Amino acid sequence: MAVVELSRWIADVDAQPEEAPGLARGILAWLVEAEVVVAEPTDCVLGDVPGGYAPGPSCGSIVVGGGGRFPDVWPNGLELDVGRSAFYGPVAGDTRVTCSNCDAWLPFEAVLPVVEEWLEGGPDALVCACCAVRRGFNEWLWPVPCAFAELGLRFWNWPPLADAFVADLARRLGHRLVAGAFGV
Ligand SMILES: [Zn+2]
Repeated sequence: MAVVELSRWIADVDAQPEEAPGLARGILAWLVEAEVVVAEPTDCVLGDVPGGYAPGPSCGSIVVGGGGRFPDVWPNGLELDVGRSAFYGPVAGDTRVTCSNCDAWLPFEAVLPVVEEWLEGGPDALVCACCAVRRGFNEWLWPVPCAFAELGLRFWNWPPLADAFVADLARRLGHRLVAGAFGV
C-alpha cells in the first residue's frame, strides 16, 4: 500500500521577503506558547528545511474536531517555509491555469517551469499569450488552491485545520492567506 504524505499548508501571499523571517518567528512563538507545537526543532518534516516542530499537548486546539486522531506517523511536524516557496494543491500536468483577464488558459505543465525559475530568483509573473497581460502567479485562476509566497506553514499529516485557526492567523499577520492541501 502506498504511503500518502499529506501536507496541509497555509501561505501568506502578502508577506514581503524582508519581513518573512520575523513573521515566522512570531508565529512559532505564538504556537509554542499555546502548546500547539514544541519549541525544539527535530527531524519531523519533509521539506527542504533544517527541521520542523513536532505536535505539542494542545495540537488538537487548531484542528477540526479537537484532535485526538493524530496519526502516529513520520513526518508529523510543522514546517515553516521562509523564502520563495510554491504551495500546490492536487494539480496534474493538464490542470488548467486560467488568465484572470481573458479566460485563456495554460496547462500546469507549461506554468511549472516558470514557477521553478521564480524559485531560483526569476520573475514572479506569467504573460498571457492571448491578451498579453502580465500577472503574478497568485493572480491567475487555479482550479485548486495553490499559492506562491515568501512565507508559509506546512502541517505534515495533521487533521484538517480549523477555519477559526486560519482566520486567527490571518488577523495576526494582517495579510491574505491561502490554505490548501497536497498529498505526495
Ligand atoms: Zn489573458
